[in-house]
Amino acid sequence: MSKIKVTIWNEFRHEKSNDFVKSIYPNGIHQQIADGISNVDFDILTATLDEPEHGLTDNVIENTDVMLWWGHCAHGEVRDDIVEKVHKRVLEGMGLIVLHSGHFSKIFKRLMGTNCSLKWREEAEKERLWNIEPYHPITEGIGDFIELPNTEMYGERYDIPNPDKLIFISWFEGGEVFRSGVTYSRGHGKIFYFRPGHETYPIYHNQEILKVISNAVRWAKPQLFREDVCPMSPALEEIKSTGDFGRAGIEQNSEGEAL
Ligand code: ZN
Repeated sequence: MSKIKVTIWNEFRHEKSNDFVKSIYPNGIHQQIADGISNVDFDILTATLDEPEHGLTDNVIENTDVMLWWGHCAHGEVRDDIVEKVHKRVLEGMGLIVLHSGHFSKIFKRLMGTNCSLKWREEAEKERLWNIEPYHPITEGIGDFIELPNTEMYGERYDIPNPDKLIFISWFEGGEVFRSGVTYSRGHGKIFYFRPGHETYPIYHNQEILKVISNAVRWAKPQLFREDVCPMSPALEEIKSTGDFGRAGIEQNSEGEAL
């Protein structure tokens, strides 16, 4: 069985500028997730914002089956042309897992087509993520809920389109609820947004959270990659149309491509 090629993308700023964050993620959130989901069927690469082309060269994007995305304070610094390439690759089939504050990333907002805004509060409160799809591949091995003792609160309304599947609903000690695990398909690509992961809490050291991410990688693995085309299609059967209907006439070559 061929390995799933996973690229973990991280902004990697807080871990360098904030000593507290550095103490939790000394090698960066990307490396902690890479170590935490490391598995015989994953071939993992990491990429970060300050690398040339954000570490997302054409070669890396083309050779990624599933990309993970974590960003927080520097979404605006991500180059639009790189976002365009990642977006195109998702539509062609690449899986994308967007984590926590990645809800405001350019790539997620573009794929959703909505603001992706939400309520938030940083009070280290308890969160309980209710597993409402216990037979879904993403929740394999997860019980009725995951409990996190200290988290940042994200609350509804979360401005996202209706998901294909709502996998987790969070309850917070302060009273809010949140759609914490949602799936979408865009083009041929599968997308999973997963809420946990604030940088000042050791969320990505939690084995259940890492298990959900591993499951999501396997779920989001592409079934195929297909480049977008929009060809004129010759009829399979004889068409017996009557009357004389005009054509607006987009000129095409013999391959059916617009000239
Ligand atoms: Zn956060």
